[in-house]
Amino acid sequence: MLDPETPGADTNPTIPHWNTPGDEPLSLEKGDGTHVYDEEGEEYLDFTSQLYCVNAGHSNENIIDGIRSQLDRIQYVSSAEGNDVRTELARRITDIAPESLSDVYFSISGSEANESAIQIARDYQGASTVLSRWRSYHGSTYATGGLTGDSHGRLSVESHATTTNKTKFLPPLGGSQSPFDADSPEELAEQAADHLEYVILNQGPDSIAALVTEIVGGSSGAYTAPPGYFERVQDLCDKYDILLIADEVITGFGRCGEWFGSETENIEPDMITFAKGVTSAYVPLGGVLVSDDVASYLRQEGLSFGQTFAGNPLACAAGLAAIDEYENLMDNVRRLGPVLHDRLESLTHHDVVGEVRGRGLLAAVEFVDPETGDPVFDPRVEDGPNPVKEVIKKAKQNGVMFGPGRPAFQVIMGPPFCTTEEDIDTAVTVLDQTIDEVF
Ligand code: PLP
Repeated sequence: MLDPETPGADTNPTIPHWNTPGDEPLSLEKGDGTHVYDEEGEEYLDFTSQLYCVNAGHSNENIIDGIRSQLDRIQYVSSAEGNDVRTELARRITDIAPESLSDVYFSISGSEANESAIQIARDYQGASTVLSRWRSYHGSTYATGGLTGDSHGRLSVESHATTTNKTKFLPPLGGSQSPFDADSPEELAEQAADHLEYVILNQGPDSIAALVTEIVGGSSGAYTAPPGYFERVQDLCDKYDILLIADEVITGFGRCGEWFGSETENIEPDMITFAKGVTSAYVPLGGVLVSDDVASYLRQEGLSFGQTFAGNPLACAAGLAAIDEYENLMDNVRRLGPVLHDRLESLTHHDVVGEVRGRGLLAAVEFVDPETGDPVFDPRVEDGPNPVKEVIKKAKQNGVMFGPGRPAFQVIMGPPFCTTEEDIDTAVTVLDQTIDEVF
């Protein structure tokens, strides 16, 4: 116990992830299913699964037992050696992944999974440029921050990193910030794919290693691509010999109602990156699924990089148990996804709610003027008023946790897969009332 006279003794010495001056984070000390509890025993409906991670719900006994039994066997094996649970998890993941993906290269986090994917793509292709998209999130390391199409997130890496200038950005596909002017989703798909081909040809196909994309935008707004867009992207990548990397750090492991979001778009990327849900976040783990061709290359050439804690056996045991749980929970995602989206539609009666969107148990509410599509406040003004942040803060005080979006005029949600109609009703009712309270 620190002496109360010691400077800082009365404050929490950890710095929270979204460190907003003036906002005191809760200290969460217990979780159960879709609910979490703070040090006072106050209950909150966790409608973000803690950053879209705890997909099986909190305190799942089967995952805890899986980790416990592994603890009694071996606790760490370096990635230079083999390990039975690691191999079994890789087999299990390749069994549920799109057929063309044959091997797994484990990492620890989503950022490192994306770092690895790009590094593999650049080596394999002998080319450096990577296509990404404005309004995307791919991580917070230098390389993945450089891939991230969010001006606020890029600021801290932009001026320092040499890798950022190897990224070329495509425009967002929809929502208030899309530059496309299409009368139908089909026309939007065509315009966006034609624009991609234009960029590829002007950039020079041989200079492009890969295109990295979220399948459904995550914290950047849960936006979905217009029907047919991704199939054309896959065709263009094949035509110009560009590797297609799907960042499924949020959409992987069932969040959109299929094991991987790529299945919901009928595509088979050359690589899929994953993290978060793979272990329901009970132990950190990430990884890259690679195609047979890329795997053969890596087996022949060897890997020139890796992380000490990648593929930790405790994490792999958690992963095996989490996948067992998802096998049972996936029907719930398929059944309740449409219930969530139907209920959210009712929020458009507020004249500050311009759009609600998403897929499966991933959704966003966008606070834009429904007529003009302009945000209801200017999110670029750092210290300016941010009523959406206020909505998230007050909803938490009212017992429901939602997440902030990038850009900041959105509320994002993604409950654990064990959620219920009652949870959905509570979350949407609280959001509805809180919007009235704030605006
Ligand atoms: N990619 C996506 C789509 C994400 O949402 C995230 C994290 O939120 C990442 C990558 C980075 O993952 P991590 O925070 O585990 O490094």
